[in-house]
Amino acid sequence: MHVDIITLFPAMFQGPFAESIIRRAQDMGALSIAIHDLRSFGLGPHRQVDDVPYGGRGGMLLRPEPLVAAVETILDRPVFRGVGGPPVNVAELPPIILLTPQGRPLTQEVVRQLARYPRLVLICGRYEGFDERVRRYLATDEISIGDYVLSGGELAAMVVVDAVARVLPGVLGYERGAEEDSFATGLLEGPQYTRPPEFRGRRVPEVLLSGHHARIARWRRKEALRRTLQRRPELLTHAPLTPEDRALLAEIQQEETHSE
Ligand code: SAM
Repeated sequence: MHVDIITLFPAMFQGPFAESIIRRAQDMGALSIAIHDLRSFGLGPHRQVDDVPYGGRGGMLLRPEPLVAAVETILDRPVFRGVGGPPVNVAELPPIILLTPQGRPLTQEVVRQLARYPRLVLICGRYEGFDERVRRYLATDEISIGDYVLSGGELAAMVVVDAVARVLPGVLGYERGAEEDSFATGLLEGPQYTRPPEFRGRRVPEVLLSGHHARIARWRRKEALRRTLQRRPELLTHAPLTPEDRALLAEIQQEETHSE
């Protein structure tokens, strides 16, 4: 996958994209990232990219021209759906995604959808955000990383790239895929333990030390169900549950009633 990121702060990406999983994904050729400086598409000698909003509201908005120029240069074709302009077939474009608190929430399902594309364009906002024409006639998607407001879209773009990189085939290695992570199966991941088997009197559950694979798998599934029930019960409404899962949930509910 190739990701183009349009930003006023290219240097912000240097550290996060040079480490760990994102670094590994790039090294193995599963991911390439190009950071594009919006300023270089700015207007006039001062490379202006923003302006005051009409109607007297405070703050500044990103103007449409630099953003459109950036995307059309990167993709090397007309993209803006203007009046009387060249026809634009959105289905032929890679997703052009605005990072915005007003976008659709980023979930693991959205991450999986995005990971299927060979190319993504991510646009980071700043100031008070974008001129509405960018939203309506340039972008093809809008994503929010949560119900709070950041100062800019850069951290949100990093979150999207990190989440997508770890589900690209082969990136996490063979030892453990992303399919066991929280949300991948519709549940939260259950508790996990490593050495030592006992620490200050607190022991690892005996079943995990038993070497009995079927019992361990059952315990893991049950604890994932328990954790989801306790922390995010609404996820259980949509999770694909088997009859065995329902039996485990009934067991858990009985255990919880007895422990009260
Ligand atoms: N005035 C805008 C509003 O109320 O929707 C908020 C603008 S915010 C200060 C500046 C930029 O940060 C946004 O254009 C967007 O790119 C980014 N941003 C802020 N919060 C975000 C979030 N939760 N998810 C994704 N991007 C976000």
